[in-house]
Amino acid sequence: MTAQRFRGPVLPDGEPRDLYVVDGRVTYEPRAGAETAAEGWIVPGLVDAHNHLGLEDGGGVDDDEVERQALADRDSGALLLRDCGSPVDTRWVQEREDLPRLIRAGRHVARTRRYIRDYAHEVEPDDLAATVAEQARAGDGWVKLVGDWISRDAGDLTPSFPAEAFAAAIAAAHEHGAKVTAHCFGSDVLDGLLDAGIDCIEHGTGLREHHLERMVANGVALVPTVQQTDKFPEFADAGRDRFPAYAATMDDLHRRRRDTLMAAHEAGVELYVGSDGGGTGRHGYLAEEIAAMVGLGLPAEHVVAAASWRGREWLGWNGELGEGDPADFVVLDADPRQDLSTLARPACVVLRGAVVATRV
Ligand SMILES: [Zn+2]
Repeated sequence: MTAQRFRGPVLPDGEPRDLYVVDGRVTYEPRAGAETAAEGWIVPGLVDAHNHLGLEDGGGVDDDEVERQALADRDSGALLLRDCGSPVDTRWVQEREDLPRLIRAGRHVARTRRYIRDYAHEVEPDDLAATVAEQARAGDGWVKLVGDWISRDAGDLTPSFPAEAFAAAIAAAHEHGAKVTAHCFGSDVLDGLLDAGIDCIEHGTGLREHHLERMVANGVALVPTVQQTDKFPEFADAGRDRFPAYAATMDDLHRRRRDTLMAAHEAGVELYVGSDGGGTGRHGYLAEEIAAMVGLGLPAEHVVAAASWRGREWLGWNGELGEGDPADFVVLDADPRQDLSTLARPACVVLRGAVVATRV
């Protein structure tokens, strides 16, 4: 097989190199006769840490639509997707060489009638642990809980389950070798989940100082999905007439959103980058999520690292493009840490050693 050469500074260290791709893997040993496929800044494959292949506003979608979603993510440079819940079986994506690598979480697990219709397995507290165990067996090492949602009885955002039900569910997932993450908008759900040893928090707009300290101490990650939390005023407005307390809660969380995120960063919480594509966002919008996080005040170099090498390491993949590592990377015109706009139009996307997208 002929080798391809990619030339330019390789992140994270930014050392200019000739990177060769042979049989899907990276090598720095010069290959005679290799053609230069692209030149530019070479960045380890981007990571969308909160994605939903197979999900759209109305629930599950067919395989053709899943393929379109995955291709949109791939062409944006997102080559490793951490699924955060999908009602359809997307295992087949993992058999496709041309589609991003996918870490599945099975289907979301929510309280009965307390989540977006047709998204989740909806259960009562007594059935939570068994359902989570089932999802842990069916997924790729992660389970997704809906930690809080509006309670129509309370008229406000409240935890989906009692703390002891969450604790039993998290223990069940851990017994099956799966980590647990949870959708959390508000504050009230967080202590119970942290007590129970949750591994990651999605959205996390309700995080307070004492939660942040516990997250750092226990290595609990946060995926803030800021394009999603941008929409809180819409959620508040939609509920304002019937559920004024809920609307006030969502407005308050939105108002504090920037301070909450910056406090998490300053406390040293591990942050990752999730577009929430398929949840209430479209696919292929990782660059926009990176820009939105930086727009709220996070340092660009930190967010780019989280969306690439740090995110990959967190999920058990090669962070750096070392000798013999899988050749998953994007080639950009500029250093994305200096110029985020370059992420919007990758010159070239390489997945499993194949050039799968080039800028036209
Ligand atoms: Zn989501």
